[in-house]
Amino acid sequence: MPAKAGRHFLQIPGPTNVPDRVLRAMDRPIVDHRGPAFAKLGLRVLSRLKGIFKTNGHVVIYPSSGTGAWEAALTNTLSPGDRVLMFETGQFAVLWRDLALRLGVEVDFVAGDWRRGVDPSIVEQRLAQDRAHRLKAVCVVHNETSTGVASRIGEIRAAIDRAGHPALLMVDTVSSLGSIDYRHDEWGVDVAVSCSQKGLMLPPGLGLNAIGQKALDAAKAARLPKSYWDWQPMLKANADGFFPYTPATNLLYGLDEALAMLEEEGLDRVFARHDRFAEATRRAVAAWGLENVCLEAKEYSSVLTAVLLPEGHDADRLRKLVLDRFDLSLGTGLGKLQGKAFRIGHLGDLNDLTLAGALCGVEMGLGLAGVACQKGGVDAALRYLGETSGG
Ligand code: PLP
Repeated sequence: MPAKAGRHFLQIPGPTNVPDRVLRAMDRPIVDHRGPAFAKLGLRVLSRLKGIFKTNGHVVIYPSSGTGAWEAALTNTLSPGDRVLMFETGQFAVLWRDLALRLGVEVDFVAGDWRRGVDPSIVEQRLAQDRAHRLKAVCVVHNETSTGVASRIGEIRAAIDRAGHPALLMVDTVSSLGSIDYRHDEWGVDVAVSCSQKGLMLPPGLGLNAIGQKALDAAKAARLPKSYWDWQPMLKANADGFFPYTPATNLLYGLDEALAMLEEEGLDRVFARHDRFAEATRRAVAAWGLENVCLEAKEYSSVLTAVLLPEGHDADRLRKLVLDRFDLSLGTGLGKLQGKAFRIGHLGDLNDLTLAGALCGVEMGLGLAGVACQKGGVDAALRYLGETSGG
């Protein structure tokens, strides 16, 4: 094994690379989380997060992973035996469904082939059939990190409205927030679920909910047991910049800096950067003659691209090879895509040359692994990056 020099290439679709600026912001002594200096930080990050979610409602921050924020969304709004509508877009939709079932929520799970997003017309149809309004929520994964497919939340909202159904809309923005457009208020989302380690460019450790008024009203009647996840004590303490239990103080310093970086670049430019990287990656994949897991161009994810290998090739063997030889980490195939697909994360703190380096590693790896595919993917990506480098 050659000695490692230079930086590791972390191109999984989260956790993502943490910018040096954010690392430095977290590298500080611990403060009293019940003292006045901390309250200022608490108020600032809570208010800044609203801008990222595009909401005037509340945002709460848990010391948790995204899974905790899933649980918080459900336990704060639902009662035992309540029914929700979920869609099998991929592994993360399956995991959210399993979590709901374990909590005692009933799930109408619309089967999917893991290659498409949520079809708004099926949302409308299912809700129109539910005349008794038994469905209490529609739960959608915005960006399915296991497949690189993005569902169209605005169109799903419109479908719910056409059906005239009162169900809450809950959206998992774990891998979309801060990378692709998400509009909490405009799209009438009632609860968003998110976390720190993807587009927010932080280490894992913060779980987020953005909460609209309709969800707060639903919370008054919700009877699923909760304590740690309860919004009420959180919102009460947050009003003064504090938390009901010990927050992840140094991650919040990092969050403040990461939000400053996103504000400086401007969200529209951040999204355009991700769109460019995704298009360059897709051009590479097409030139290699490989297949994108996502079948619908209108659902391509700008966060990651999941790539299928031809029959007879093991994607995890390819991943191991590029890690061993080039110190590049690619995302593994998850669930039923294990061994069949690998994922290239192109989100967070990266630029043209980071992406180019990652694609070089993939192309060299494909050649070394003897995968039946063409060369020229890197050339195609570089041509596109060059042509569009003017901004
Ligand atoms: N939802 C999506 C879309 C994800 O990509 C992930 C993790 O990658 C999760 C939920 C679960 O988040 P965590 O692993 O932080 O609990």
